[in-house]
Amino acid sequence: MSECIFCKIVAGEIPAKKVFEDDDLIVFHDINPVAPVHLLAIPKKHIASLATATADDALVMGKLLQTGSQLAIEQGCADGFRTLINTGRVGRQEVYHLHVHFVGGPDVLPPMLKR
Ligand code: AMP
Ligand code: ZN
Repeated sequence: MSECIFCKIVAGEIPAKKVFEDDDLIVFHDINPVAPVHLLAIPKKHIASLATATADDALVMGKLLQTGSQLAIEQGCADGFRTLINTGRVGRQEVYHLHVHFVGGPDVLPPMLKR
């Protein structure tokens, strides 16, 4: 059995507040949201990070962005949102299963990085 927490969500072994699922991906609410809307879009296939994605993964990566964007708008981000992919140690990736964060809500977000 996979030790990957997001593979466990894919397998239905742990619960998630899903907003979308198809053959290739799942979109669900982040368990520890940083804004009123905080969705995660993940491929069902285990891809450890953006750094290890291959050309074969390009289609599903596009679907993560396009589907996640539409769902973020539906969930309250009509005026915009931020997409984030944390990658590796420097990017402070915590879960090593590729995921795209969609963060937003009614208010303008703070700057992405402190200068
Ligand atoms: P990162 O790997 O740094 O991009 O962040 C991983 C994200 O996954 C964090 O925002 C966590 O709150 C979120 N997370 C971890 N476990 C779960 C879970 N079981 N359900 C939903 N979100 C989760
Ligand atoms: Zn996984």
